[in-house]
Amino acid sequence: MAGEFDLISKYFANQQLKRSDVALSQGDDCALLQAPENTHIAVSTDSLIAGTHFLEHANPQWVGHKALASNISDLAAMGAEPAWVSMAITLPSADETWLEGFCEGFFELANAHDLQLIGGDTTRGPLGITLTVQGFIPQGLALLRSGAKVGDKILVSGCLGDSHAGLEVILDPSKRERAHASELERRHYCASSKVALGMMLRGKASSCIDISDGLVSDIQHIMQRSNVGAQIHCDKLPLSAELIEFTQDKHLAQQYALKSGEEYELCFTLPQHLLESVRQSAQQHNVMITEIGEITDSNTLHLFDNGQALEDDVAGFDHFRS
Ligand code: ADP
Ligand code: MG
Repeated sequence: MAGEFDLISKYFANQQLKRSDVALSQGDDCALLQAPENTHIAVSTDSLIAGTHFLEHANPQWVGHKALASNISDLAAMGAEPAWVSMAITLPSADETWLEGFCEGFFELANAHDLQLIGGDTTRGPLGITLTVQGFIPQGLALLRSGAKVGDKILVSGCLGDSHAGLEVILDPSKRERAHASELERRHYCASSKVALGMMLRGKASSCIDISDGLVSDIQHIMQRSNVGAQIHCDKLPLSAELIEFTQDKHLAQQYALKSGEEYELCFTLPQHLLESVRQSAQQHNVMITEIGEITDSNTLHLFDNGQALEDDVAGFDHFRS
């Protein structure tokens, strides 16, 4: 597009301190990177498209944060330490006000993780951002979806459901009147990162996933890859006070927690004997974790509320979803 190189040099090149493992970043046909020895490189790509993942008029700073947060969340879920990111961005026009806000949100989060933008592509078209992040994991210590064992406990970080409430506020202006509407909208875009927790779980968690589609959906990925079942105690789901006040109904808030996507919290499994030591480490890292269920040998997902099996189980949940 017109001014492509001006935009790149003004907004995307040389915006950050250089990492010592980046021999060459923007300006040539490829970046040149130095990988540490005995380390696997974790690589993940995610797109954020206007109209699908955010509304065109959304706060650009939040869009910059969210685009990167969703990618960093995948690194966290593997226990990886963020290192490099490349960006393919499509812009309808050279809207510099939008770009300034976007870069503010993007680089603030990148710098917080010593994550360097090492290259990309800038084109004209419908607004969309595709990022590829790369991070380091000592060989053999990646947190996979496939290691959950019968009897392991299921835990989640943070509180669940806020992102879904925020989405409702974004899509239904009448909900702006409700308690904590703007804070929940902010949380929808600005999830906090779980990198420290993921790294702390290396060698401990038997499986891990980040909650991007919703707990009920994501736990089933662990079940499939590990060939196990699971039960979740809905009364144990961690809910924020803001969500309960927003919904004014604890049961409804639990439903939000089960289905809320784009939470970017971690869901992981732990053998019982590691529960206490991981709880203590999480406390030292100031990360909230909550035990919400167990891995079973049934190959199905069962939901309980105060010890009572929920009649419709996941089918009931799906009905709620539609
Ligand atoms: P090429 O012709 O090889 O596709 P470009 O002209 O697209 O190169 O880009 C020039 C340089 O700017 C490259 O080094 C590329 O990595 C970098 N770059 C382009 N867009 C971005 C972006 N959005 N973020 C970071 N780097 C970018
Ligand atoms: Mg190019």
